[in-house]
Amino acid sequence: MKIRINKKIISLIIIIFITLPFLTKIKEKNYDNQRELMVDTQIESRGIYDEAVLKAMRTVPRHLFVTKGYRYQSYYDRPLPIGYGQTISQPYIVALMTELLCLTDSSKVLEIGTGSGYQAAVLAEITNEVYSMEIVEELHNISNETLKKTGYYNVKTKTGDGYFGWEEHAPFDAIIVTCAAEFVPPPLIKQLNIGGVMCIPVGPPFQVQNLLLITKKSEKNIETEVITYVRFVPLVRK
Ligand code: SAH
Repeated sequence: MKIRINKKIISLIIIIFITLPFLTKIKEKNYDNQRELMVDTQIESRGIYDEAVLKAMRTVPRHLFVTKGYRYQSYYDRPLPIGYGQTISQPYIVALMTELLCLTDSSKVLEIGTGSGYQAAVLAEITNEVYSMEIVEELHNISNETLKKTGYYNVKTKTGDGYFGWEEHAPFDAIIVTCAAEFVPPPLIKQLNIGGVMCIPVGPPFQVQNLLLITKKSEKNIETEVITYVRFVPLVRK
């Protein structure tokens, strides 16, 4: 009797080991399908047309950047919590902001607010030169690991207050700020190349903010365009 039960348990373990890779593959395929659907119904249908952006959104495995408990919602039309009171943006907003940057494969881009690392990965699908700053050390560590695990070695990250930008690597062709500032940080304008663009939500914390597209025409000529209303977590200062 004892021997029979042990045999049963052993067979069960063997079956689990044999089927596990197949189940994982089915799960991944399911996420691939959800991602395709996300791009079709939430992004392309809302007017995002830049081929590089669409391709990046179709490629980056968003579910691997999302906290485990929320993973099944990865491709929903909404932002999701990533811990430490922060959120990963809604897919459409990620695509919109990326498109506004008009990136080429040789653009040098700075992101303020690494968070989960998802937006950085989307940028890294388009260009090789991606720099990203995060003020919460734990999020910096987690996102760094995720970016490595998913193969985005071309994202250089550091912890620190993004208000001051990343002087050492300036100037940038594009800057994307994924937290809301009460005003546009002057150091970020300074670190933009002439002809460079910055996409930044500006407005009061936890209220509706304006998503701005700023173009540095010359040192003295800074053009600002309001794109839409958004609601981002605040840019905090140390
Ligand atoms: N881009 C992220 C979402 C970021 S949420 C993603 O794809 O997941 C905004 C992030 O900005 C948070 O992680 C927050 O900690 C960070 N943040 C807030 N103030 C900051 C600052 N002054 N400098 C750098 N990062 C900041």
